[in-house]
Amino acid sequence: MTTLQQVDLQCPVCENEFRSQQVISTNSFGGKRTDFHERAAGVQPLPFMVHMCGRCGYTGSERDFTEEADVSPLIKEQVWSELAPIVSTRGVPGSEKYEAAAKVADWQGAEPRHVADLLLRAAWCCVDEGDLEAERFFRRKAAWKFEESLASWDGVAAEERAVLTYLVGELWRRVGDLEAARGWFDAVSEEITDPATQSWVGDAARQQRDCPREWFG
Ligand SMILES: [Zn+2]
Repeated sequence: MTTLQQVDLQCPVCENEFRSQQVISTNSFGGKRTDFHERAAGVQPLPFMVHMCGRCGYTGSERDFTEEADVSPLIKEQVWSELAPIVSTRGVPGSEKYEAAAKVADWQGAEPRHVADLLLRAAWCCVDEGDLEAERFFRRKAAWKFEESLASWDGVAAEERAVLTYLVGELWRRVGDLEAARGWFDAVSEEITDPATQSWVGDAARQQRDCPREWFG
């Protein structure tokens, strides 16, 4: 089962001290979807792996609440103008926390790949929140960011290109754009650098193109 524990955090933007919940342990007994969304048995851990300040809306992982956090005056200004208005006293759903975290990462100049990962997590949270429209919105945004990282010269390590190319295809498939999905699935084989360890990616791409499945395994 998933174990949560309270954690005391201090916001690097507004100095607000607040209590959040963090994940101490979790499991993947719930299986893995074909977009790599790992499911836990019991409570899903994702919404608790990101924290939002209830005063200014600054959001990030636990590390983003330490001295290592990059919060320039400009970023503080962006947090106050764009995130503070969405803060509410009710529980903010995981998807909105990840969306805020993706904005902060973008303002900090993070790699597109990192921003894409946060947007993908927002989409995964939407699955649990039962919000199909928002799920597709975040899948689209994640796909564009992964595409941006694949298009940049050194945004993705050579040995990771095949799996990310597959993932972009799977995101478009789940959005409902089967033509875009096919293009990306067809491109996977050219990105395989080591057939011994990556042939499964090629197999998965063919499967999702021709006879898609919801779950791995
Ligand atoms: Zn704050």
